[in-house]
Amino acid sequence: FAPWEDPNEKPLIQFKNVTKRFGDFTAIDNLSQDIYTREFFALLGPSGCGKTTMMRMLAGFENPTEGQILIAGQDMAHVPPNERAVNMMFQSYALFPHLSVWENIAFGLKRMKMPTDQLTNRVEEMLRLTRLTKFAKRKPHQISGGQRQRVALARSLARAPKLLLLDEPLGALDKKLREETQFELMDIQEKTGTTFVIVTHDQEEAMTVASRVAVMDEGRIMQVATPAKIYEEPNSVYVADFIGDVNIIQGKAQKTSADGYDIHWADGHEPFHAKTSLGLADGQTGFIAIRPEKITVSADKPEGAMNAVKGQIVDIAYLGNMSTYHVKIPGGLVIKAQAANTRRLSRRAFTWEDEVWLSWTLTAGSVLSE
Ligand code: ATP
Repeated sequence: FAPWEDPNEKPLIQFKNVTKRFGDFTAIDNLSQDIYTREFFALLGPSGCGKTTMMRMLAGFENPTEGQILIAGQDMAHVPPNERAVNMMFQSYALFPHLSVWENIAFGLKRMKMPTDQLTNRVEEMLRLTRLTKFAKRKPHQISGGQRQRVALARSLARAPKLLLLDEPLGALDKKLREETQFELMDIQEKTGTTFVIVTHDQEEAMTVASRVAVMDEGRIMQVATPAKIYEEPNSVYVADFIGDVNIIQGKAQKTSADGYDIHWADGHEPFHAKTSLGLADGQTGFIAIRPEKITVSADKPEGAMNAVKGQIVDIAYLGNMSTYHVKIPGGLVIKAQAANTRRLSRRAFTWEDEVWLSWTLTAGSVLSE
């Protein structure tokens, strides 16, 4: 069982019908969500959707206008930030420039008057955890950006919070270092067993690190699921479109069996066939969301394919191991499809203006309503 599927597991964090208004602007809109111990939970969504507001309410810098937030079963309404087992790591790591790495990590422990032996042990444990032992004596300006990020992390974890909030923690790092650090974060999260809630703009980052991802829009959570499920089974056009590359084909739905639908996407053309448990009424507008890698590109009409359509290549993006073909089909719709670049293929080469067939299976796409 994953913790969120285990009926015996109690949530660490509970948002219960939380609304947050700033004046007459609703930043969080009647939102309910549980987050479990040891989860790495990602909040993902466009700028202004309310991610930071959720973090600030967890940390206690803001209070809900309506509803409740519980941590470990306790209502946080009147609990100030310093009395919550929560720590927040900001994008600007805010290290003390005049203090060494060691002293930066020890800072919060000294303030809580931890006995010296215990403090020394704890700082050293944090240095080991974040692989900073040999940089302990240096000042922040004498280490790299990635190392500074690890000092900030070590400092946030030193007091062993139950919950660590990470607001764009890797935003200042370049792409390569950022990717390496994602794996470090996951490793440290697992080793400490702390619940991490991360805010990020970067969907790839959320998909890499998180046990579950919440995709937000305008103060609401649109879908919460594992990264794979969000990618494979988005519950809305919004989520499908927000995560990764996707084709959205619109048409009128017609039920053909218990879970089978025809999607009439263009007059005079055979409808596309798809399966879904979603109940669509006959004549209702439906959408098929298909990832480019789920569509096969071929020169000849594929035999026995459930869905096949002929089109013309209008654009090609070379990606190294594969290419993405932009194929214009009847009605003017452009569909993106990926095919591997093999030597044979590149010699034969689909190229600009080639006529090709696109085909996919009954279950390659998700059928969605508006
Ligand atoms: P970003 O990714 O850009 O940081 P976000 O998803 O974190 O965005 P929030 O910072 O949570 O968004 O803000 C959500 C909305 O609430 C925004 O429209 C913002 O302008 C508004 N907002 C946030 N704080 C306040 C405030 N103190 N007063 C008024 N409006 C606010």
